Amino acid sequence: MRDLDRQPLISIIVPVFNEEQSLAPFIETITRVLERDHADFEFLFVDDGSTDNTLPNLLEYSRQDAHIKVIGLSRNFGKDAALSAGIDLALGDVLIPIDVDLQDPPELIVQFLDYWRQGYDMVYGLRSGRDADSIGKRLSARWFYKVFNHFSAVKLPENVGDFRLFDRKVAEVIRQLPERNRFMKGIFAWVGFKSIGVPYSRPERARGNTKWSLWKLWNFALDGMVGFSTLPLRVWTYLGSIVSLLAFTYGMFIIGKTLVLGRDMPGYASLMTAILFLGGIQLMSIGIIGEYVGRLMIESKQRPIYVIDRVYQSGQAVGPG
Ligand code: UDP
Ligand code: MG
Repeated sequence: MRDLDRQPLISIIVPVFNEEQSLAPFIETITRVLERDHADFEFLFVDDGSTDNTLPNLLEYSRQDAHIKVIGLSRNFGKDAALSAGIDLALGDVLIPIDVDLQDPPELIVQFLDYWRQGYDMVYGLRSGRDADSIGKRLSARWFYKVFNHFSAVKLPENVGDFRLFDRKVAEVIRQLPERNRFMKGIFAWVGFKSIGVPYSRPERARGNTKWSLWKLWNFALDGMVGFSTLPLRVWTYLGSIVSLLAFTYGMFIIGKTLVLGRDMPGYASLMTAILFLGGIQLMSIGIIGEYVGRLMIESKQRPIYVIDRVYQSGQAVGPG
């Protein structure tokens, strides 16, 4: 049980990128849910470099509603970076990252809060069905979790997105993580703490379009894998050993054969196969090393995860710039 002598302050963290149509229904729905629960809350909208009217609209809403804070990033940094910005600036006792498209049902927040009051530090939404997703997306998601959890020491709960509630002490830990590769799903799993999942079915996006192309999803999965496991690097040690052993055995066989039967010229096919096979394996392993080296380079530059242009409250700039 929590011993807070007041209503907890809830920080609703919403990364938005070109979402001008989704804002109004979102704010309305969430506010209705939270006011029914007599909650004390703040909205932290992180404008991730939108090029439409998202920012002006947000400023307009924040003029009318003191709950609404707006963090304007200097360009598009991607959802995970935007989420990090929101977590860094949130003042709440509990933090709730949520998508603006109402695919994360706001009614669930009430249940999340109940669990939190019971002492859970992290309560995450568990998608019970992926009916709204295409077959391709569903299959690739399944495979991703399978492969990831096989490779990585940190296990990702399957079908869990960013929609969740966590305590401020979890936020403290996340704020201290310096990594630039913000694979938030992995980070949320890495921090640990007493956690529980709440199942829900995920509806279709209310308005606007998804920002995820197949290519973006692939890169996202790659970031996750490489950020949380070194197995793809280590696997080459073993594969290399096996291939060398096979090559050695085959070499002995050829030498033996030559000694017994004499020299014969044909062998072009086997030679070519071996060269191509080994060449392919070497290129692939170099590529994988490259994935890690590239990320080492990015981490070593120590660039900030995001750049804030301005922070606004009540429609007025209050923060840097
Ligand atoms: N988003 C963002 N920056 C981006 C892409 C997306 O802040 O570069 C936000 C977007 O506005 C939305 C949330 O991240 O609030 C989830 O995006 P989307 O609905 O496109 O993803 P999906 O639900 O399809 O996973
Ligand atoms: Mg969505």
